[in-house]
Amino acid sequence: MNRQKCSVCGEPSRAKLATVYWRWTWPSGDQRAYKQKYDPTCGIALFSRITKSQAGAEECVMCEESAKWPNAIYVHGWVYVPGHDQEEIELIHCEECFLKTEAVYTQGAERLADREVGGRGTPAPNPADDPWAAIGLHP
Ligand SMILES: [Zn+2]
Ligand SMILES: [Zn+2]
Repeated sequence: MNRQKCSVCGEPSRAKLATVYWRWTWPSGDQRAYKQKYDPTCGIALFSRITKSQAGAEECVMCEESAKWPNAIYVHGWVYVPGHDQEEIELIHCEECFLKTEAVYTQGAERLADREVGGRGTPAPNPADDPWAAIGLHP
């Protein structure tokens, strides 16, 4: 059987992988869209950052300084975790921090044409065997 590989650690996973579609626009107007797969270990590390970022709407998720367009990058994410509802997120970065962290969103990723992002179906839930139960995005 062909196991899917995690985009971050590159390991084939026994568990179902989460899929995340990212999209952002550089202040130059350059639009980027990527698709990544996460196993539970790498995904939970990422999503703990996302959960933290929901609180402050206008602060960089990394340095927590105020970040506003055009000196900020708004990273939109569509998160599909097996057995959970689709989650739509926005991560704000000041430009300086984003330059340092861009690889988080592009590592092992498949680059997409912008129009391919969003509007995908949610993977079929499988609550009986849910390695993502610890994630805490949804009860
Ligand atoms: Zn991994
Ligand atoms: Zn910052």
